[in-house]
Amino acid sequence: MKLIQNYIDGRFVPGKQEFDDVNPADGKVIARVTEAAEVQVNEAVAAARCALRGEWGRIGIRERAARLQRIADAIEKRFDCFVQAEVADTGKPVSLAAKLDVPRAAANFRVFADLVKMSGVEAFQTETSDGTGALNYAVRKPLGVVGVITPWNLPLLLLTWKVAPALACGNAVVVKPSEETPATATLLAEAMQDAGIPKGIYNVVHGFGPGSAGEFLTRHPDVNAITFTGESKTGAAIMKAVAPTVKPVSFELGGKNAAIVFADCNFEETINGISDAVFLNTGQVCLCAERVYIERKIFGAFVEALKQQAESLYAGWPNDAETNLGPLISAQHREKVLSYYRLAQEEGATVVTGGGIPKFGDDRDNGFYVQPTIYTGLPEAARCGKEEIFGPVCHIAPFDSEEEAVALANDTKYGLAASIWTGNLKRGHRVAQQMSVGITWVNCWFLRDLRTPFGGVGLSGIGREGGMHSLNFYSELNNICVKL
Ligand code: NAD
Repeated sequence: MKLIQNYIDGRFVPGKQEFDDVNPADGKVIARVTEAAEVQVNEAVAAARCALRGEWGRIGIRERAARLQRIADAIEKRFDCFVQAEVADTGKPVSLAAKLDVPRAAANFRVFADLVKMSGVEAFQTETSDGTGALNYAVRKPLGVVGVITPWNLPLLLLTWKVAPALACGNAVVVKPSEETPATATLLAEAMQDAGIPKGIYNVVHGFGPGSAGEFLTRHPDVNAITFTGESKTGAAIMKAVAPTVKPVSFELGGKNAAIVFADCNFEETINGISDAVFLNTGQVCLCAERVYIERKIFGAFVEALKQQAESLYAGWPNDAETNLGPLISAQHREKVLSYYRLAQEEGATVVTGGGIPKFGDDRDNGFYVQPTIYTGLPEAARCGKEEIFGPVCHIAPFDSEEEAVALANDTKYGLAASIWTGNLKRGHRVAQQMSVGITWVNCWFLRDLRTPFGGVGLSGIGREGGMHSLNFYSELNNICVKL
């Protein structure tokens, strides 16, 4: 059986213990993964620190950018391997991995390679009492060793979203991919070798969170910053762990996102857009809409049309080109989603469609599939309307006025994303600007320009990444004041 190893100081190394890597489509073990012991996390951090003193610390921005482009080339060269590794680990449809996950990984390196070459710094001419003046200018320096901790829903996409700007700024990284999806972070090590990234600059340690590689990394005194994507409660645990060593953190956390649909929307485009926003990646995208608010005039028609969309999704085998709905990531996550399906009914929901487990009559019955599910009729205070479920599920509620829709959408402790669907662009702008979130889409969803700020408010995160915001997080500015 294939063994997925840690990657430390340019070498693939086994750990002390192993755990299973399971294919969520049929529950079969596809590989064994070596869990990094604390001593190996320490070795990875030491290798990263040492590598910063070598070639990587001396080469200029132009050469760093060129190597980032070569990483993108190396990903594209191994495109099918990355797609297959991601499909096997997540169970997501091959069409999605080939269209979204892997191309975006390459794009992440290309965008930050370009950006870092174009980025400037601040400069100020300062008046002084003796009339000679002073010149202030900033220089951008890497943070040092960055710990990168990522989730399983878009494993390679989210990992490279952090690794690319961190490397662009001249840092070394120790990454801890999700225990559910270890393959592509390990494959990326081969792309790093192809691209001439010096040993020790990109390290991978496998394992879990508490008492394992994740915690060891966050507590490590020689790690200069932690960038994390995952659940809000994990973010809270990491904040505590980094407090004694006062590390900067960048947190991209959970969401309970709203979509607001006005009666003047383009109905067909909106149904397609909301269907993606609810069901893409089996609802396992932090930006997915779990709360859908519909102007009352079109409520009945909308619920019926979205029901048809949900029922037309095809949960085939992941490698079948027609498949557009995969399984959930694990048995444990399926149990969590099903517990919300049960809770919704206890809380008084009407099941429009779904609510259970599909039956296939083949090995997919051993996988972790659930039915795409739509509810109506929940009271606003219901837990199912407040807590992130992270599955192919939404609740649809009617509204009567723009003010009411805005108040409903903002009534959450999260604040990641929102989408507004209307034919009236004036209203689109007006409502979008009232959303308490990090990103609002008007008449679209998940359309990402990698130069734009990305992040959340409230329980959805701390800080912004994307474009210059990433460069600002992954570097320190040293202001130099010169008396003239
Ligand atoms: P998770 O928080 O359970 O795990 C994420 C990573 O953190 C994993 O690598 C895990 O091993 C590690 N981890 C867990 N506990 C830790 C600890 N105490 N110390 C250090 N590391 C620890 O999240 P998940 O279930 O893998 O991912 C789903 C969550 O991620 C959802 O809440 C989703 O909304 C969120 N997410 C957010 C964004 C965003 O951009 N805001 C993007 C994708 C996913």
